[in-house]
Order: sequence, then structure tokens, then C-alpha cells
Amino acid sequence: MAIDPTQAYDDDNIFAKILRGEIPNKTVYEDEWVLAFHDINPQAPDHILVIPKGRYVSWDDFSATASEAEIAGFVRAVGHVAREAGMVEPGYRLLANIGKHGHQEVAHLHVHIFAGKPLGPMLM
Ligand code: AMP
Repeated sequence: MAIDPTQAYDDDNIFAKILRGEIPNKTVYEDEWVLAFHDINPQAPDHILVIPKGRYVSWDDFSATASEAEIAGFVRAVGHVAREAGMVEPGYRLLANIGKHGHQEVAHLHVHIFAGKPLGPMLM
């Protein structure tokens, strides 16, 4: 079920529960700004999710209301995770699904990192 990116933040979403330690995850990286962990249903040999620790539904509220430090911390962390995982060469793909047409299912901003094989052209 896709979410509405303009909805108020729901503290019961699954990634909020992961951040609170109520649901286990396979952590790849954590710092003051983000948590990065393996996707439970990988769509590529390497499939990592990076989420901000702040309460943001999507790229929309994050880009509009997050502090410069949160945005910088998030962007830098995504790059750091990919570098540390050895993905820079031969490459990787970033994806953020936003809202209904973007088919966002979890109402906490996340960026997907896909890697580990030639990913081919984008399908849309
Ligand atoms: P999206 O369509 O961008 O909202 O994708 C949500 C992603 O979260 C999917 O790729 C799911 O496989 C992933 N996911 C859902 N629950 C968990 C979980 N408990 N741990 C790790 N990944 C999850």
C-alpha cells in the first residue's frame, strides 16, 4: 500500500520501530544522522537502505524542513556507505520512492542503494 507523502509522521512505521530498536535489523553503518541496514527483501545482490534518524516521511518534508546539518549528514552518509561497501567501482544505483506514484511503502524517508551486478537501464 503506497503512502501519502504529505501525511503527518507516523511513529508506528516500521523504520521508526527499527530506529527505536523494537525490530531487529542488519546494520551496515550508523552515525549521529543516519542508520543504514540491509533490505529484508533484496532486489539486487547488495541492497542497503539508508534512513535519517529524524522524523521525515519522504524527500518532500526532508528537503523542505530538515536542517543543513541533517541534509549534509544524510547525503554524506549515503556516499560513505557505498564507498565502504566497495561499490564506487564498478558502480551502484540510488533510488528514493516518494508517495503513491513513486510506490513508497514505508512512511519514513529512505534511500535504496543497489549494487553487486550490472543493473541495466532504468525500467521507466
Ligand atoms: P519503498 O517501496 O521504497 O517504501 O520500500 C520499502 C523497503 O523496505 C522495501 O524494499 C522492503 O523490502 C524494505 N523493508 C520493509 N521492512 C523491512 C525491515 N523490517 N527490514 C529491512 N527492510 C525492510
